[in-house]
Amino acid sequence: MTHKILVSDKLSEDGLAVFTNAGFEVDHLPEITQDEIKECIGEYSAWVIRSRSRATADIIENATKLQVIGRAGVGIDNVDTVAATQRGIIVMNTPGGNTTSTAEHTISMLLSLARKIPQAYISMTEGKWDKKSFMGVEVYGKTLGVMGLGRIGQEVVRRMKSFGMQVLGYDPFIPDDRMRQLGVESCTVDEICERADFITVHTPLSPETKDLINAARLSKMKKTVRIVNCARGGIINEDDLLVALKSGQIAGAALDVFMSEPIPADSDFRKLPNVVVTPHIAASTVEAQENVAIEVANQIVDVLKGGVVRNALNAVSVDPELLPVVGPWMDLADKMGAFLTQFRAGKAVKLTCRYSGPQLDISTSAITTAAVQGFVRPIAEGPVNFVNARQIVRDRGVEIIETHHSEVYQYENLCTVEVEYEDGSLAYISGTMFTSKHPRIVILNDKHIDAVPEGTLIVLENNDVPGIIGRVGTALGANNINIGQMTWGRTDEGTAMTVINVDGAVDDGIIEKLTELPDIKWVKLVRLS
Ligand code: NAD
Repeated sequence: MTHKILVSDKLSEDGLAVFTNAGFEVDHLPEITQDEIKECIGEYSAWVIRSRSRATADIIENATKLQVIGRAGVGIDNVDTVAATQRGIIVMNTPGGNTTSTAEHTISMLLSLARKIPQAYISMTEGKWDKKSFMGVEVYGKTLGVMGLGRIGQEVVRRMKSFGMQVLGYDPFIPDDRMRQLGVESCTVDEICERADFITVHTPLSPETKDLINAARLSKMKKTVRIVNCARGGIINEDDLLVALKSGQIAGAALDVFMSEPIPADSDFRKLPNVVVTPHIAASTVEAQENVAIEVANQIVDVLKGGVVRNALNAVSVDPELLPVVGPWMDLADKMGAFLTQFRAGKAVKLTCRYSGPQLDISTSAITTAAVQGFVRPIAEGPVNFVNARQIVRDRGVEIIETHHSEVYQYENLCTVEVEYEDGSLAYISGTMFTSKHPRIVILNDKHIDAVPEGTLIVLENNDVPGIIGRVGTALGANNINIGQMTWGRTDEGTAMTVINVDGAVDDGIIEKLTELPDIKWVKLVRLS
């Protein structure tokens, strides 16, 4: 199937070429309106946006073929991720592509603020030669406080260390060891506010970081402090910042981002002499635009060609290096989940994936997601995929648990999917990988078997007496159904479970006939892809 890609914002030629080289059809429509997108989105498998287009719930509702929304850039404030997740659409961004540009802009802003370069330039354009009004400060030897030490924060630190600045850092998710390696002193937000001469924020905007710098914190700062925000509007409370700038509580601010963009033509931020503003251009360099365009296109091509999902914000990403190991287990887990749902009906309350063995001593969340996806696919309406499977299952009140065990079982590597039902009963299935790539179902409830998880399977329980296999074989043969493989496991109670891989169409009539045979207790049909 050829995929069609909609690019509804401006994208570089090299980015577009990634799609065409992969054999996909691209519509590059940088002027298209929201209403027009809503009309045509049903034709597309992937949709690329920057910051102009908005992926809203009403458009997503019409996106019947859409598999992925790719944002060339970082912020996804213009994507309704909840709506996309519900429809099983991957949302991805390109977080690395504009790191250098944004770090360089942050530093340009900081130095502009320290040396009043924009103000001096305006005065020059007015015909003046005013040397007195633009007394600046050095950054050498000063203390820089960095809040958020991710990609951009760290690049800013590296560069500002070479200017001779002392760096204080706040990031609850970066270990102190890493801070030390970067030459950063780990501090609280309040310590930074009290000690820093310059402060720059590089966190995402979240409920935790909204108003991270507010009136109370501004009041603790030195009167000489200069603040930079090239991250997201709202991390610094804008009203509180204006008050501090007007009253002289702080010396200045440089802002590239705002709560609501564009800011009004008469915004005080445009007028204050101690403020430097730019219109959200930190990532606007030739290199960054090129990087994000190529990055988003490559990521989308990988998804549509069935490869690895990278930088997804609503799906489990799989480390490409681990894919050769994880991939076959994901496939097996998906089939085990689908097997259990068809094998045992009932209101599930808990789905547990247990892992043991050296091959599975890795991050197994993608394998668990695959098991959940297989489990819910046969019983869900609408598309089920890697993006929405966990959500659908949770919405049905099923808890998802993942555990790792160090005990050695009969099989070196073992993955078990266990489902607990409302009445407290359990059903479980275990699988392993023979010679690393041949999947087998080896345990079904309390029976040890050796079944190939493929195609159509007939599962039956029978009294462990002679003649059963012959009778079942005859009944299937009479209906033109060929037995591909057969496996059975016995219990001490005199029963056996038989799993038969069959070729040919099996309908409910045949299952009924098998059920009526002597010594057969029950028969189930399981279809695996
Ligand atoms: P990143 O994910 O690499 O880094 C973010 C860092 O913030 C992480 O280290 C994380 O641990 C930290 N963090 C998260 N919550 C925190 C909290 N409550 N307190 C302190 N730290 C917290 O992201 P990045 O690529 O470095 O981007 C940083 C910011 O820059 C983002 O807000 C991004 O949207 C913005 N950005 C702006 C532009 C622009 O054009 N102005 C361009 C690119 C990125």
